[in-house]
Amino acid sequence: MSETLRESAVPATAGELLGLVRSGRAGTRSDLRRLTGLSRTAVVSRVSALTSAGLLLLGEELASTGGRPPGALVFNRDAGVVVAIAIGRSRSQIAIFDLEGTEVVSDSRDHAVGVEPDDLMPRVAERVATLLREVEPPVAGIGLSLPGTVDPVRGLSIDSPVMAGWDGVELAPYLVGVVEAPLFVANDADVLARSELLGRSGSFHDVLVVKASTGLGLGIIADGRVLSGHVGAAGEIGHTRVDAAAGLPCRCGATGCLETVAGGWALVGRLAESGHEVGHVRDLVALALHGDAVARGLLRDSGRHLGELLAVAVNLLNPQAVVIGGDMGNAFDTYAAGVRESIYARAAALATRDLQILPATHGDRAGLVGCAALALDHVLSPAAVDARLVAQAQRPTADALR
Ligand SMILES: [Zn+2]
Repeated sequence: MSETLRESAVPATAGELLGLVRSGRAGTRSDLRRLTGLSRTAVVSRVSALTSAGLLLLGEELASTGGRPPGALVFNRDAGVVVAIAIGRSRSQIAIFDLEGTEVVSDSRDHAVGVEPDDLMPRVAERVATLLREVEPPVAGIGLSLPGTVDPVRGLSIDSPVMAGWDGVELAPYLVGVVEAPLFVANDADVLARSELLGRSGSFHDVLVVKASTGLGLGIIADGRVLSGHVGAAGEIGHTRVDAAAGLPCRCGATGCLETVAGGWALVGRLAESGHEVGHVRDLVALALHGDAVARGLLRDSGRHLGELLAVAVNLLNPQAVVIGGDMGNAFDTYAAGVRESIYARAAALATRDLQILPATHGDRAGLVGCAALALDHVLSPAAVDARLVAQAQRPTADALR
């Protein structure tokens, strides 16, 4: 249904033409004419608006740097940068990316679990300021991720069991004076899903992306888009009640949640009880990778429990792949074995016929890449680019992304 609607709308605005070049579908003006049916004059005027905004470069201008044929259109990845801020329960990663999603510079630091926004966010803002001193172009946007449910419109965490002090706190004001660019906030599993869309250059349309770390979350890509749900709570599977967890107290205050038998925090607790010295799920994963049988058993069991819920999601959405990211995803073979076992035992044969179970493309950088993708998806969307060109036409000497 939506497929037919989408295909009948032929891209025609300058922003849409830029999208065709960015995705690699068009490399010349004649490609653009062929794909859109626009006249030569219309294509020339739109391309000219994009080149004067600095978003497109012409092949002939690039001749000195070698190899581009005359008439080639090249997306200018250096027309601006985006800031990525991935805030986790015990670590915050910050990086600057060019407009093609390549990292330019980054900074990752641990923080105390339970840190409040008033403690952490001013330090984050300082680190952003330091990184920005190393780059030239204007900042087009900021992508920020948090664990738990997020209100993307107000740019804040809502009702998250693990980010208690962050509930309802607006984050944009902390960055005022440091970086003047729109802030986009999303859930950590959603940005993980966006990092997969960026990583596989459009080859995935229906994918479940698991974030298996201290907590458990799911990013859902359906028909090429990341689903957030009615109030942004789509994919919050960690606090689904499951029979195996009956009566066990969860960090969210309820009992019987999936996380109490499969979340990283619960496994760390169990491993500590067995006499191991572990403080974080990354310690548990390191032990498993060194062959510790108890740690491996815990990870495989976690994968099994998670896989039981994923089997339902596989039957609902019929994804082409389940991607496993997060700290526990670093012990992919062990974790995926548990996930695979439950999915294949429980999901319908047709839904699993071509299903792939894959590690996250960007590994430990996935949160950052996803935050960059979040910002890029917004600031380079056709509507945003068109709006900027209109604004630029009214300010003759302005840079398109300022
Ligand atoms: Zn819970």
